[in-house]
Amino acid sequence: MRVLITGAAGFLGSHLSERFLADGHSVVGLDNFVTGHPDNIAHLLGHERYSFVRHNISEYTYVAGDLDGVLHFASPASPIDYLELPIQTLKVGSLGTHNALGIALAKKARFFLASTSEVYGDPLVHPQPESYWGNVNPIGPRGVYDEAKRFAEAITMAYHRYHGVDTRIVRIFNTYGPRMRPRDGRVVSNFIVQALLGEPITIYGDGSQTRSFCYVDDEVEGIYRLFLQGDAMPTNIGNPVEYTVKQLAEIVVEQTGTKSPIIFKPLPEDDPKVRQPDITRARTMLGWEPKVDVRDGVRRTIEYFRTLAGSSRMAPR
Ligand code: UDP
Repeated sequence: MRVLITGAAGFLGSHLSERFLADGHSVVGLDNFVTGHPDNIAHLLGHERYSFVRHNISEYTYVAGDLDGVLHFASPASPIDYLELPIQTLKVGSLGTHNALGIALAKKARFFLASTSEVYGDPLVHPQPESYWGNVNPIGPRGVYDEAKRFAEAITMAYHRYHGVDTRIVRIFNTYGPRMRPRDGRVVSNFIVQALLGEPITIYGDGSQTRSFCYVDDEVEGIYRLFLQGDAMPTNIGNPVEYTVKQLAEIVVEQTGTKSPIIFKPLPEDDPKVRQPDITRARTMLGWEPKVDVRDGVRRTIEYFRTLAGSSRMAPR
């Protein structure tokens, strides 16, 4: 197969590119480096089955040659990023998804949308099955991401139903691991970077809100299987083991051995109180479930961030 991956220099896009290359496929990576980073793909640039295009998928996009798959992973994806880049976030979820679908239609390729657990908003059903329609504030600070992804799901289903494009939608729950941007503002990267640099570890609110953290290798394996074996209906891929944010802070303190104090800061507006995927569908359809325990995954992520010590990428935003 030859596949196009948008957001290819991002955290997930770069790991996903490797997964396709490892199975003998060819990858065309596309990224504009708004939140992705060249370091994430430097090791792929000489690969004979890898090519890279620097481009914004929200603009008209031409890709030469045949394609078997179009995987749309481009988007700012951390709450701080989409607060800073609200218009780009809305555009890449809407215009970017439309362009990526247009490429898939023209090339008769399978289309794969990276959607998000954010479509469930601050959920009133727990854990969240795919059948839950969500509780999203459209005009809140997170609305730019949540509604863009909800639109992206809607237009993906429209291309499937109206144009007969073979489509997939994954709803990705909190994922972490090597190649996260050090200062992307997410909880796992923030806590580890703060711990390594001896900065205070910043818990927002009282830390009783929960998230379910999936290690990147597990996430990418689920995504890859969904691309190959799944169907058009949305599928949750995430780790159902749920932690409070305070527990995560304690795990990071324990694993790094840091002397950083834990401090409390105000909870951001519309911050979901709980989040846990119901992965029954992925288990049944794909025979997939996550394997990496959070302590093990956090340890591997700490090792990655240690390799960035002294790099300008570790500097505060
Ligand atoms: N969070 C925190 N301290 C930080 C960053 C995040 O306590 O330095 C909290 C945040 O308020 C949220 C959870 O951790 O409740 C997960 O935040 P993240 O930005 O990783 O993603 P989200 O799941 O909210 O999209």
